Amino acid sequence: MKAPVTDPSGHHRRAGRTLAGVVVLALAGAAVITVSAPFAGPGRRPAPGAPATATGPVPSPGAPGIGDPLMPLAGNGGYTVRRYTLDFDWRAPRTPFEAGATVSATATQALSRFDLDFAGNTLHRVTVDGAPAAAERHGDELVVTPAKPIPRGRAFTVRVAYTADPTQARHRDDAIQDYGWVPTSDGTVVCAQPDGARMIFPANDHPSLRAPITFRVTTPPGVSAVANGRLVGTERHPDGRTRWTYDSEQPIAAQLVQLAIGKFTFVDSEGPHGLPVRDVVPDGLVADTEEYRSLTPDHLAWLEQRLGPYPFRRYGVLVGDTDLPVALETQSLAVVPRDDLLGDRVDAERDLVHELTHHWTGDSVAIRRWSDLWLSEGHARYYERLYSDEHGGAALESVMRAAYEQHDQWRHDEGAPAEPTDATLFKVMRYDGSALVLFALREKVGEETFGRIERAWVTAYRGRAAGTRDFIALASRVAGEDLGPFLRPWLYGAHTPPMPGHPDWQVDPVED
Ligand SMILES: [Zn+2]
Repeated sequence: MKAPVTDPSGHHRRAGRTLAGVVVLALAGAAVITVSAPFAGPGRRPAPGAPATATGPVPSPGAPGIGDPLMPLAGNGGYTVRRYTLDFDWRAPRTPFEAGATVSATATQALSRFDLDFAGNTLHRVTVDGAPAAAERHGDELVVTPAKPIPRGRAFTVRVAYTADPTQARHRDDAIQDYGWVPTSDGTVVCAQPDGARMIFPANDHPSLRAPITFRVTTPPGVSAVANGRLVGTERHPDGRTRWTYDSEQPIAAQLVQLAIGKFTFVDSEGPHGLPVRDVVPDGLVADTEEYRSLTPDHLAWLEQRLGPYPFRRYGVLVGDTDLPVALETQSLAVVPRDDLLGDRVDAERDLVHELTHHWTGDSVAIRRWSDLWLSEGHARYYERLYSDEHGGAALESVMRAAYEQHDQWRHDEGAPAEPTDATLFKVMRYDGSALVLFALREKVGEETFGRIERAWVTAYRGRAAGTRDFIALASRVAGEDLGPFLRPWLYGAHTPPMPGHPDWQVDPVED
């Protein structure tokens, strides 16, 4: 996600999640449901000492979340997803349409039931291996009880049929703003970060959980569909509608899904080493956005010099024909809003480089927990600023000095870089405040060592999830010194440490 904007005083629809043993989930468009404590914890398990059968452990419910302290119910336990196959029979920008999700999974425990993250929409039926399954909805949890328990290690297939609501969205009072489905004049884009994929399809909706996705989207005549990855093929139906099939090629976190429909022109070009670059542009915006879009191969080359090979098989910019200030690092097809490509070049390039940098940090190297977000946004902001410094924008050092001055205030208001709350997740501390931590590390170890740390980071954890402790350990290993005592106060402390090499930099006093 791109730069945070000034905090509006808008309403905040998401209720607090955990209240002293009771989970209260308030949903737009759904009843408020209060669930007693055992639902939130590991309580839905057999009592200790429950007898095991001759065939294996007693089946028990999969956990309703993977235990991320910031979003405890995000993701699900008891199984891993091998692939999602999503069918969307799309009709018109704000018209509900029939949809189906096929989740191919493997049980990691003997399962009596399991959850998917799913919000809103109209649920029709759920089957497990073709047999009807009981399905209950508790807030964002879709609780599925198969007719027969699923043994540990068994592959199984869940199919969820529903009517999708392409107007469904939520709001956060941070850089995310509105997220979910984003209708356009002739179609849609989606911005699912951070926990909005569940509004689009039933998912394991946590950034550390990834699976490949096949998208099958049927559109009316004259309208195209795009999604992450490769266009596998199109098929014209007798009624004039077209089915578009895309394959994500590489596993993808639910929050990084892109699914866009509209009257699009596909603009093909080439990045370094013949990397396929395909922009997806609303027909009327091709010429006007061409100047900045055509800079992508330069941006790829510039980032490859610093971070090594681009980690995916293709890239492209989807121009979002929307007034919403939404730019998002949707995997292999970043969405950048129209207005960002029609204004000032320096600002446009900051956005483009930011979303592209995320493909190394955030998309390829996923975060392990939401509190690791500083690693994703801090890197994106750091390279965005560094690029801008070298290409006519503000000097990196002056930007970092300004961030340094405000750092204690941000710590006070938004938590230290690696200590966000749900409410302060996408605030400026995770952007400029976290880029400053990387700048401090560079000043501490020197540019050459910093460059080696960065390349080692995106290489060692390519295609994997990694967290703050992983970064500190890797940086220490590369630098040949324990950087924990240096980095931890920067990441967790109440006060901003001195900036190496800049003894004259001062932090502004905190105002309550
Ligand atoms: Zn970002």
